[in-house]
Amino acid sequence: MSLDMNDNEVTLSFFKNEVKQFVKERNWKKYHTIKNLIQALQIEAAELSELFLFKELSVNEVLSNKELLENVSGEIADVFIYLLSLVNELDLDLTNSFVNKMKKNRQKYPTKEFNNGNYYKK
Ligand SMILES: [Mg+2]
Repeated sequence: MSLDMNDNEVTLSFFKNEVKQFVKERNWKKYHTIKNLIQALQIEAAELSELFLFKELSVNEVLSNKELLENVSGEIADVFIYLLSLVNELDLDLTNSFVNKMKKNRQKYPTKEFNNGNYYKK
C-alpha cells in the first residue's frame, strides 16, 4: 500500500483484501459479529456527523478548513473500513450490491418524475 495511490488506480477488491488482512493480522475477527460491525459503522458515521454539530458550514468553508477537512477524510475512511468489514463478513460483492440498488433507484425515481429537483420518499 502506498500513500500516492488514488481512486483511479485501485479496485474494490484491493480495499476488501486490505481490511481483511488488517483484521486477520490482529486476530480481531472474533469481534466482527454482524451486530458489532453495524454498530461500529453507525458510530463512525456519528463521528463524521459530530464534526458538523452546531455548525452551519458551506462546502467552501469546509474545503478551506484544512484541519476539518482532514478530520472529515479520516471519519469517511473509518466508515468505509467498517462497511468493507461488514461486506467481507457477509461475503457480499459490493459492486453487485451497488449495481442492483442503483437499478432499483432508477426505477423508483424515474427522471420523468424527478427531473426538476423534486424529492419525496417513495
Ligand atoms: Mg472515527
